[in-house]
Amino acid sequence: PAPRHLFSDAAEVGAVRSALLAWYDSCKRELPWRALAANEPDVDRRAYAVWVSEVMLQQTQVATVIDYYNRWMQKWPTLQALAAASLEEVNELWAGLGYYSRGKRLQEAARKVVSELAGRMPRTAEELQKLLPGVGRYTAGAIASISYGQATGVVDGNVIRVLCRLRGIGADSSSPAVLDRLWDMANVLVDRSRPGDFNQALMELGATVCVPKAPLCEECPVKQHCHARRRRLAWGRPRCRSAYGPTATSALVFAGAGGCPLCPPATEPWDSSLGVTNFPRKAAKKQPRVARAATCVLERGGRRGAPRYLIVQRPSSGLLAGLWEFPSLPLAPGLQEEKQREMLAGHLQAWGGRPVAAGGLRYVGEVIHIFSHIHQTYVVYSLPVDEDVTLDAALSPSRWVTEEEFHASAVSTAMKKV
Ligand code: SF4
Repeated sequence: PAPRHLFSDAAEVGAVRSALLAWYDSCKRELPWRALAANEPDVDRRAYAVWVSEVMLQQTQVATVIDYYNRWMQKWPTLQALAAASLEEVNELWAGLGYYSRGKRLQEAARKVVSELAGRMPRTAEELQKLLPGVGRYTAGAIASISYGQATGVVDGNVIRVLCRLRGIGADSSSPAVLDRLWDMANVLVDRSRPGDFNQALMELGATVCVPKAPLCEECPVKQHCHARRRRLAWGRPRCRSAYGPTATSALVFAGAGGCPLCPPATEPWDSSLGVTNFPRKAAKKQPRVARAATCVLERGGRRGAPRYLIVQRPSSGLLAGLWEFPSLPLAPGLQEEKQREMLAGHLQAWGGRPVAAGGLRYVGEVIHIFSHIHQTYVVYSLPVDEDVTLDAALSPSRWVTEEEFHASAVSTAMKKV
């Protein structure tokens, strides 16, 4: 790669480290896991707290995570407490955070630490990644740098954006070749004496200043080192292009001239209307799969107390594993409404133990929910049933719940919408 893409100048590395750390010290957000990591003397508990926060923060906004994190740490303050919990309890607390397998895997790994590692967390990023199921390179680096002070870098979505802009990297940022370079860069940059703070500073910069759509470049502590910003300022001022060499032209500066693997491809040169948000670039996302399901809210009673609703448990693997839902079944594309009702009535018969008339199902409406890779539509029906419906114990676990109990159960956000 062209040298401008790398951090090869020691003086510049030192300047970036100190600028970022000084900014972090004065601007960082006060977050509960940061307070715990800074004040907790027990290294295993510190690592556990960082681990929980990092797993929750994957794909989820900080503002949403805070409440979940506080409730989690209150309920399971140690690895041992989490290891002793049931999966049902974990799913209940996780409900609404999405990507439910994350909570399940966190608990499995905690059980492993307690049963196989004598309750002691592995002490390096390499060992964390090797020994704990579900702990990837990023989480391992975050735990090791923040809890143990290991000088190891981290690369997450925020770091990718900041580094690609700082170094003008316009090749596909999800490609292994670019990611390898970014990891190398993160490991070079990380401050040796304050690695945890440095990593958090880099991520914090991406979350609050170098944001995806409208970055606040003029407030940025490392703007002097930013190639994307320099490129934006140079646009329309040919004089400034000399910064990239006497023969550079605006088209060449950031296009893949000379076969550089980190430059934008020559077919997608700099777009002046995008400014610094020309970086990072990603290959087009795969379109989510479109899926439809019929779901029925069976309602029982109401005269002698609160109405109750039937929920059933999903299988223990696959999408939304182990969560509870109203009885549902997938629908083939283009199925007529009449057929849809018949199929749902047949499915419900199994739960009620008696025939269900398709005509008795009341159509309520449709609910759309976007999972990471599925665009799901639920066609919602309701059905009042008699008091004396008994559930077949041979089927998936099922139970009748009040509205309040429903909300406290391990149900997905999609079902809450239903
Ligand atoms: Fe991001 Fe702008 Fe800072 Fe560059 S100057 S790192 S684009 S916020």
